[in-house]
Amino acid sequence: MEKSMPNTLSSTQCYYCAIHPAERERTAKVTMYGNIRRSFRKVEYDRTELSVPRCRQCQRLHTVVSFCRMIAILLLLPLTIWLNVALLPTAYRGTGVLLALFLAVVGGIILGNLLGKRIFLQPKHIRFETDITSLPAANRLIQNGWTLNRPTP
Ligand SMILES: [Zn+2]
Repeated sequence: MEKSMPNTLSSTQCYYCAIHPAERERTAKVTMYGNIRRSFRKVEYDRTELSVPRCRQCQRLHTVVSFCRMIAILLLLPLTIWLNVALLPTAYRGTGVLLALFLAVVGGIILGNLLGKRIFLQPKHIRFETDITSLPAANRLIQNGWTLNRPTP
């Protein structure tokens, strides 16, 4: 005799691809910021971490995109250091190295995300890791003035 078991395993769908079932240990954690209080040169806010259902494939591709960011930073660094050496007078080179590092990190994150999305996520219609605006829990927070970007003064 066959007994049917309630299927409790096929719970939630992956938010990012909307195809595969989500796996608990692949859950993405995305931070949101709200109740922002600004005063002179100061900003205070609350933060909350949302758990976003994710499958194994999407977690892997999100990791690939983070490698894209790292590689882009490493590729940009010699360029920004070279610019620093070429453009700044010798006396400013100490500060220039910090500036070069800063530019490489900022540029690398932007470039890496852009290329990573284009090459690995868009062809498979997978959302970017922090693109959670369609998640009902995130949507409710956004309507209450919460944001995905850390507030700056
Ligand atoms: Zn997925």
